Amino acid sequence: MTHPSQAKTQVTLTFDFDAESLWMSLGRTSPQPMSRGTYGAQVGIDRILALLEREAIRATFFVPGETARRHPDKLRAIVDGGHEIGHHGDVHEAPTKLSLDEERAAFSRGMDALFDAAKVRPVGYRSPAWDFSENTLNLLKEFDFQWDSSLMADDFRLYELEGPEKQKSGIIELPVSYELDDAPYYLFLFSPVYMTGMSDPEKVLRIWEREYEGAAAVSGLFNLTMHPQITGRYSRIKVLEGLIKTIKDSGQAEFVTCSDAVATLEARK
Ligand SMILES: [Zn+2]
Repeated sequence: MTHPSQAKTQVTLTFDFDAESLWMSLGRTSPQPMSRGTYGAQVGIDRILALLEREAIRATFFVPGETARRHPDKLRAIVDGGHEIGHHGDVHEAPTKLSLDEERAAFSRGMDALFDAAKVRPVGYRSPAWDFSENTLNLLKEFDFQWDSSLMADDFRLYELEGPEKQKSGIIELPVSYELDDAPYYLFLFSPVYMTGMSDPEKVLRIWEREYEGAAAVSGLFNLTMHPQITGRYSRIKVLEGLIKTIKDSGQAEFVTCSDAVATLEARK
């Protein structure tokens, strides 16, 4: 039984719209891998946007600059659908491999590409590598970001990131996890590393439903990461549809953007 005064569980459906930039960042620029990225922009994104519209859910899309330059119409379709845009690098580069100047340039170019394509200025960031360099936290402050969603020190709770001397940063973290990411389950890769992927979608649904129970038990945050080129496949869209039904049927949750979740946290303080 849900007590009427119990705070709602917040569900953030997030989509990393990497398209071709994922394969470019892996150095795999021949036609076949690049076409996997194009699939996300030509097929996957449309299926996801249609599902979100049917379900009246607002989501957060993390978009690299390269995706915005190649597919500005899709970026505008996301914005027109009422969804939030987050920063996700310029060409999906890993911050840990960049100098300060290179990383600052990637932040800046990514920002410019999102603004040029859809007139948006994101306040949230997700590292393309789900990792920070020693400069990333300072750059988030320099570029006036309010929150990040790349790190893993909690599961169902937002928390504030700290600097190396434990000083508060003012940047709120919406934690991610490999358990709540479609890529480890589904993504098949021969190289640069071998990944078996191809999980039974029903297995993934069971794991995600159990994790949602955990988030709901503490009225916490359920932050799910997906990719249009992965979850855009029909069998996996069906899993997402099933998960949305389970969450809605629980009567305990609200679907929000990442910025909404951060605003709720601030309001509850
Ligand atoms: Zn990505």
